[in-house]
Amino acid sequence: MPIALRGHHLLCLLGYRGMGYSDAYVDNMTEVYRTLLADPQTECELVKGPDQLCACFPPDGDYHCEDRTVAERDALILERLGLVTGQIVTWADILNRVATSLQPDDLLQICSTCPWLPYGVCQDGVRRVVAGEPLPIVRPSVYGVDVDQQTRCQHYHSELDIIALKFGCCERYYSCYQCHLETADHPPKPWPQSRFDEAAVLCGSCGHELTVHEYKECDSRCPACNASFNPGCAAHHALYFE
Ligand code: SF4
Ligand SMILES: [Zn+2]
Ligand SMILES: [Zn+2]
Ligand SMILES: [Zn+2]
Repeated sequence: MPIALRGHHLLCLLGYRGMGYSDAYVDNMTEVYRTLLADPQTECELVKGPDQLCACFPPDGDYHCEDRTVAERDALILERLGLVTGQIVTWADILNRVATSLQPDDLLQICSTCPWLPYGVCQDGVRRVVAGEPLPIVRPSVYGVDVDQQTRCQHYHSELDIIALKFGCCERYYSCYQCHLETADHPPKPWPQSRFDEAAVLCGSCGHELTVHEYKECDSRCPACNASFNPGCAAHHALYFE
């Protein structure tokens, strides 16, 4: 299934650095962003009006996704990129079009009313694409108690306690089972067996995501950065994996 995206979000994604309107919004946008970066051949369907990112806009937020000015911005950006609504294009194609038809300061005009513009991240995103530089890695959010940069928590904080695990109930990464018990508003469910080929373990050292199969075969070492994981975690697998 292609990822449904509206015109202006093609550029918002270039400036995405993990900020957003709510936890759910950020989790969803991070997943879309990471999918596109991991595989630039991912297909995107250009839609009119609310898209796959708007779908997670907080229900109590100041919903602007159907504003006329936003729709006008969508149309303007598609036109600048030589694209039309309804088209299905790869993310790589979108990046090529940005590189050849936009400059960072064009956003000053195109996005003049957007409150995110002053952060400068979107212009930086366009600059990177034009310069052929990669977009920065954005890690999935990790929930829990006193979670550090490498995903250690109040409960498990040895040198080796550097993985976070995704739960089947909420599809969110937590530092540990107790973190879920203490901070989530629902009982934990382990990651389902039918989805062991999906990413559900996060290396806190480098941000790489492992499938459950990969994790079980990794011999307590990150296949991407070689950091050591706590081999003792194996004793708790039943809490995390169905
Ligand atoms: S300034 Fe606003 S609309 Fe423009 S790319 Fe950034 S977040 Fe998107
Ligand atoms: Zn949960
Ligand atoms: Zn914990
Ligand atoms: Zn790693």
